[in-house]
Amino acid sequence: MHSETLQLAGASPGLTHGLRVLRYGQPGRGPKAMIQAALHADEVPAMLVAQGLRERLDALDAAGQLLGEVVLVPCANPLGLAQQLMGQHQGRFDLHDGVNFNRQVPDISAAVAAAVQGRLSDDAAANVALVRDELRRAAGALSARHPAEDLKLQLLRLAIDADIVLDLHCDAEATLHLYGLTPQAGLCAELGSLLGAEAILLATESGDSPFDEACSRPWFVVQQAHPGHPVPLACFSTTVELRGQADTAHALAAQDAEALVEFLRRRGVIAGPLRPLPTARCEPTPLAGSEPIVAPRCGVLVFHREPGARVQAGDLIADLVDVDSGVVEPLRAQSAGMLYARSATRWATPGQRVAKVAGSTLARTGKLLSP
Ligand SMILES: [Zn+2]
Repeated sequence: MHSETLQLAGASPGLTHGLRVLRYGQPGRGPKAMIQAALHADEVPAMLVAQGLRERLDALDAAGQLLGEVVLVPCANPLGLAQQLMGQHQGRFDLHDGVNFNRQVPDISAAVAAAVQGRLSDDAAANVALVRDELRRAAGALSARHPAEDLKLQLLRLAIDADIVLDLHCDAEATLHLYGLTPQAGLCAELGSLLGAEAILLATESGDSPFDEACSRPWFVVQQAHPGHPVPLACFSTTVELRGQADTAHALAAQDAEALVEFLRRRGVIAGPLRPLPTARCEPTPLAGSEPIVAPRCGVLVFHREPGARVQAGDLIADLVDVDSGVVEPLRAQSAGMLYARSATRWATPGQRVAKVAGSTLARTGKLLSP
């Protein structure tokens, strides 16, 4: 294992942050996986799973079991981790400008699709190598104006030529769920089976360029732009939501790290016999069918259903208690599906998404992810 600390651009003189990167295996030999934890900074279950991965990768490396390369970033957002405001952690948005740390990751899809124009052949492997060269070139040519942009860019450069990108997050209170690219439903389902995912949410574009799509969509865009040439989707990228903030436990982290190692084994990154795939706990559903349960006004939130509950259309999810009038307003699901996440606070603000149901009957358009 080789470790390094990348320096992030500082916002003012004397201020800088370091991004710790652990590298296993040999670059260029075998498939490459990039795994990062807690891009939203305060996602502690993800950081604990990364430590579990580190222990396992150290042991596998010592035993000569690394067939490919693994780049592990155990704490992907040192900027956000340092954002303590009056005793509260603010890890999701950059306090500099309010931008979500997992949005507006540079989208180099169009640049790469244009760069390979007239240079693709009938040889799929040669096309993959060409696209990968152009991805590295395009990511290398970008520049950042402030620390959060520099963070996104440095992480993108670590991931852009990988075969597998696992972006480990968690939700507020949630069951384990994944986000992925629609044409990669099969790999999402395989990873979901290993992790015991209760929901898998798919889109070809969710809006605002989250990190997983910044890595996987360029292949999809190149494929769509050049239908006459074989271009496989050579990067499988997914966001893994490791339950809720409070689901931080050694047993869960060990179980998740084992599942991720098994997925890397199945992809040829790690040697060893494969275990049978556990029975899937869910089928992938469109992200457009994920229903946000919205509080129309402020009030006290009293939940009636837990994360992991299967709900029917019309089911009562929560009561919203108006503290001026005493009126109790029921918040109901419109669609049937899995209640996969809910708010961790019990005071709702107007317009807040207080819970999410993975269904298949809605067809939302526009920006599909939470702010
Ligand atoms: Zn997150």
